[in-house]
Amino acid sequence: MIDQDSYCGTFTKNAPLGQKSWFKCGGTADLLFAPEDIDDLAVFLKEYPSEEPLLVLGGMANCIIRDGGIRGCVISLGKPFAEIEVQGTRIMAGAGALNGSVAAAAAKAGIGGLEFLSGIPGTVGGALRMNAGAYGTEVKDVLVAAMAIGRHGSIGALGLEEMNLRYRYCGAPKDITFVGAVFEGKAEETLTVRARLKEIKSTRQSTQPISEKTGGSTFANPSAKELESAGLPEGTKAWQIVEKVGGRDLQIGGARMSDKHLNFMINTGDATAADLENLGDELIKRAYDQFSLNLHWEIRRIGDC
Ligand SMILES: Cc1cc2nc3c(=O)[nH]c(=O)nc-3n(C[C@H](O)[C@H](O)[C@H](O)COP(=O)(O)OP(=O)(O)OC[C@H]3O[C@@H](n4cnc5c(N)ncnc54)[C@H](O)[C@@H]3O)c2cc1C
Repeated sequence: MIDQDSYCGTFTKNAPLGQKSWFKCGGTADLLFAPEDIDDLAVFLKEYPSEEPLLVLGGMANCIIRDGGIRGCVISLGKPFAEIEVQGTRIMAGAGALNGSVAAAAAKAGIGGLEFLSGIPGTVGGALRMNAGAYGTEVKDVLVAAMAIGRHGSIGALGLEEMNLRYRYCGAPKDITFVGAVFEGKAEETLTVRARLKEIKSTRQSTQPISEKTGGSTFANPSAKELESAGLPEGTKAWQIVEKVGGRDLQIGGARMSDKHLNFMINTGDATAADLENLGDELIKRAYDQFSLNLHWEIRRIGDC
């Protein structure tokens, strides 16, 4: 086992991660490590036994922490990894920085093109792993490079090719921890960029259940090929499939789909992580039974049932 006293960062046993996730339910992590800086994290990764489970989480805006909790250690990049620096039209952001803070810093510096991040809860690390996107722009459109630490402590940069970003997918090795990113925008008037931020905020408020306990889009939108083989019209969105299979009226325990946006699952108050997952699985089953269509979870389900 690792010697916790030899690191500058903090360790928490039985950390109640589920309650801190956006869904506000689910279990605890056996151990949570919040490194003090990159070196602390690199040494930890080098020394952490490779056979032990290890996971990094950001703002937990895109995951269900299962009720049985998470075995092994979870790395959480907090404040020391939240710095944001501007150089010309480039933004250097730590992986622990909130997407919203990156968008705000870009606007303040007169950099346009990163506004979409303001509508995406969570951190830069999560946005890299998910190739997060909104309103027609995704991380892949603005990313220059990502900085990461490998499972054994080696630090390096990954360009766009190595990141292999596609719709809600990142092809970089699964066991790396992103520690930062360089984004490129374009010079624009701060007032113009701020006007777009305002627009995004009001669109989000009217179309997404952002004050609910939710996790963003539950399912990825089906590809054109999947829709064609299911005999569904081109451009059909996941929320429309949820509607077609009776998702509006379905409730499992405390979990249901939001009336405001049918692809957003919500914890109505006392949902367990199992309720949420069972609801998603039931919708997947119905979509398959009715249309032979495989709906794919966008939300990550993490830990033991
Ligand atoms: C109200 C609401 C609206 C949303 N709207 C959108 C939207 O418009 N577009 C969109 O794309 N998403 C949206 N989401 C989903 C979510 O905000 C994004 O997926 C976001 O990028 C998740 O970031 P996070 O830090 O919370 O990641 P987490 O949920 O903590 O983790 C997600 C994944 O990223 C990995 N990860 C996290 N940090 C790191 C790191 N440093 N290094 C390596 N891997 C890491 C985790 O292991 C996990 O696999 C929404 C969510 C909510 C709650």
